[in-house]
Amino acid sequence: MFRLSPVEFHDSPIAGRGVFARRQFRPGDVVVAFAPKQERVDARHPQAITAAETRLTLLSEERFVIIPDTSVHGGWLCNHSCDPNASVFSDGEGRVQCTRPISPGEEVTVFYGWVTHNEPERDPCHCGSPRCRGFINFDLSDEDAEHAHVLEDNRVVLEEVLERRLAEYGAFLRSIGQEQVQQAIANTLVRMKLRKPGSVVCAY
Ligand SMILES: [Zn+2]
Repeated sequence: MFRLSPVEFHDSPIAGRGVFARRQFRPGDVVVAFAPKQERVDARHPQAITAAETRLTLLSEERFVIIPDTSVHGGWLCNHSCDPNASVFSDGEGRVQCTRPISPGEEVTVFYGWVTHNEPERDPCHCGSPRCRGFINFDLSDEDAEHAHVLEDNRVVLEEVLERRLAEYGAFLRSIGQEQVQQAIANTLVRMKLRKPGSVVCAY
């Protein structure tokens, strides 16, 4: 039996190579494996920390990191869009799953959800969506952190200026079904507040 692959990999107008549908996908369909060949290691393993710099790794079940073998094409090649048609899931095997109907020939895109610290223009976005925010990353600066206060019981209280900024981005995230990114933002903010003065928080 012969079966065509449901996706193909070729140059993308967004960036580098991308993943393109060869057939129709409906919400909930698995589009492609994140990495047909991969390693799954403990998140604290030095190999996981080095691999994280490539930004191609996936955190799985909070404890493991999935490192794709980049000699084999897979969902790890998906470009970012500010209005994506798919999502990456990392429980068990990493996979890219359709969230909005995708037509044959259309590029399959996901939302990276990167959070940076003091690098507001690190990752310019070329997704071309009318909803494009201009940058892939959401940046938290030291000035932002000054508007957050850690109480004695470890609760974090935000001043209105920061609360408004996070609420605006939170509404955007919800509108594209990516509200889980809010957790990464909260984690980054807490690590910024708890770090030693002058040190940089390693962001996602
Ligand atoms: Zn964009």
